[in-house]
Amino acid sequence: MTSGTTRTTAEWQALDAAHYLHPFTDHKALKAAGSRIITRGMGVHVWDSDGRRLLDGMAGLWCVNVGYGRRELAEAAAHQLETLAFYNSFFKTATPPAIALADRLSGLAGPGFPQVFFANSGSEAIETAIRLVRHFWTLNGQPKKQMIISRTYAYHGSTIAAAAAGGSDDMHAQAASLPGFSHVIPPYWYALGGAMAPEEFGRFAAAALEQRILELGPDTIAAFFGEPIQGSGGVIIPPASYWPEVERICRRYDILLVADEVICGFGRTGHWFGAHHFGFRPDLMTAAKGLTSGYLPLSAVLVGARIADTLIADGGEFYHGFTYSGHPASCAVALANLAIIEREGLLSHSAVQGAKLLQRLHDELADHPLVGEIRGTGLIGAIELVADKQRRRTFPSERKVGLMCRDHCFASGLVMRAVRDTMVFAPPLIISDEDIEEFVALAGRAIELTWADLAA
Ligand code: PMP
Repeated sequence: MTSGTTRTTAEWQALDAAHYLHPFTDHKALKAAGSRIITRGMGVHVWDSDGRRLLDGMAGLWCVNVGYGRRELAEAAAHQLETLAFYNSFFKTATPPAIALADRLSGLAGPGFPQVFFANSGSEAIETAIRLVRHFWTLNGQPKKQMIISRTYAYHGSTIAAAAAGGSDDMHAQAASLPGFSHVIPPYWYALGGAMAPEEFGRFAAAALEQRILELGPDTIAAFFGEPIQGSGGVIIPPASYWPEVERICRRYDILLVADEVICGFGRTGHWFGAHHFGFRPDLMTAAKGLTSGYLPLSAVLVGARIADTLIADGGEFYHGFTYSGHPASCAVALANLAIIEREGLLSHSAVQGAKLLQRLHDELADHPLVGEIRGTGLIGAIELVADKQRRRTFPSERKVGLMCRDHCFASGLVMRAVRDTMVFAPPLIISDEDIEEFVALAGRAIELTWADLAA
């Protein structure tokens, strides 16, 4: 079997339909329609098997932060694979890349994060975090503190506990619901804010957490889990009042605060971590995706001093880990990737280019009748497509306006994702001024074509 581009698109599609079950996919519909086959990437662009170029406004799946085609990362992997392809960290052993990366991440997280645990995916990092916070309370003599509170529209992964922590009823309905998880409203001002001003609504959404804590009893709750900006849920950017209030509430009732930084980490918001952008201090952070820019799978749990000290001093053996925890090649790629982010100033580039992209989208699209809101922080953002912009009223979901727009984006040469009727974007952090103009022109065309379809 060849794995290159030696087959025609139709041949790839037939093989794909015959054997490949894709993640998060309606298999019958996909097998009837045929997959889009992506064969190559460079910078912010990818190419399909027909040679069509697409501007990747999603950085793969919110992860290719330094862009495609980085030889330095391929070389870091090749060098490590030749030197020592694999060794585990289970039996009183470690490898230099894993140690060096733990040290580096502890430094980037800021004061108070002395220890790092490695896994392979965001979901595994979340599973690890759930076990750590529950174990922490047991070690502290409060074994009843086991409940996890998170939010509707949260996405924390697809393993069972991570999905239970997430806020998707569709996932819960497919054997991914567990006791011990409770969900509160997200700080989604555009959809839920009604007549409230954003900052007032931010405090209101945080108060829902406090109310739930009081209903359940603080002595039953282990932790609150939240993405600083909810990504897969529709790029829900909380008002500035939200996170400080959530932090205050967690401290008041002695509930651990976990920031899921799987999307927000490594420059997406213009900072190393989303918590730094919003100015709150979690007890634990989960990271993945941009940690290696997606070049190899790797995730990490950055463990704050309170949990780390207890685990180390009183925990005995922690019965948890994965064969590939701290895989040396993934860690070597992560170190090279972090070096690129630092050397090329991609944190400030993300903030500057993100502001430019937002401005240009506003210039070109804010007055469009279909566009209800354009929002963004750094290089993560969203465009709300609505039936009535004055009243912030959405289309009936069966009209599938977001999917129409997403298909027009693809056909025009732009990758954006539709979450309900919210078009979300998170391009590679290296996006240039020229790329921004291309992005805005293609997004504008796709929205215009969607508008024309709706009128037809
Ligand atoms: N947390 C967040 C915030 C995510 O966005 C994702 C994936 N989109 C995950 C966790 C799960 O990561 P993975 O798909 O690598 O398991």
